[in-house]
Amino acid sequence: MVISKEDQLRSELVEGAKAIFAKGLVEAGEGNISVRNVKKDEFFITPSFNQYESLKIEDIVHMSLDGTTISAKKLPSTEIKLHIAIYKSRPKVQCVIHTHSTFATILSIVRKNIPIIMEEQVVFLGGSVDVAPFGKAHTDEIGETALQALDIKNAALLANHGVIICGKSLGHAVKFAELVEKLAKMYWGALQIGEPKIISKEHAERFQKHFESLFANYPRSMRKKKS
Ligand SMILES: [Zn+2]
Repeated sequence: MVISKEDQLRSELVEGAKAIFAKGLVEAGEGNISVRNVKKDEFFITPSFNQYESLKIEDIVHMSLDGTTISAKKLPSTEIKLHIAIYKSRPKVQCVIHTHSTFATILSIVRKNIPIIMEEQVVFLGGSVDVAPFGKAHTDEIGETALQALDIKNAALLANHGVIICGKSLGHAVKFAELVEKLAKMYWGALQIGEPKIISKEHAERFQKHFESLFANYPRSMRKKKS
């Protein structure tokens, strides 16, 4: 049986959604994940009040980047504007994930950025994970503030809300979502027992080239902003 490219994307998205649920990064009814329909200004996204355990490909919502629904049996996630803002400003991004994972959200509530505490953080995410200013959920504002906090990186925290992740593939994005929660947990734990030591900028820069060649997805036009 020949599977259409679009059904293949729906099926990958279901797998990705089940993966973030299995890793404990989202609970039923919260968070969302989407994939871009390459070469078209379209994407597929999990439905509103998503039930991850029973999610099927027919539940996936097909959307245009202008915000209109192409086909759906269910309502799209209420946070589509966040996904649209990222796809529009970052053409290389293939997958966007939004979670309310516990430790990352704790840090977003006290507005603590996750500084560079692990070398792998620079390789996979591009550096610190910063908190975007508070933006009203489901509005254009939250997309704009998320993009500011992302800067050239692949992850940011949303104040009093959760996490936003983008990747050049679904596999990358799932890995990054898991890593952000792990880093948040480690940083939170370190803060309980002492003063966390931050990896120096000079040392972190050595890993920047791996980020640039393997995982970076920001547009070329942002390159001058790196310093
Ligand atoms: Zn949310």
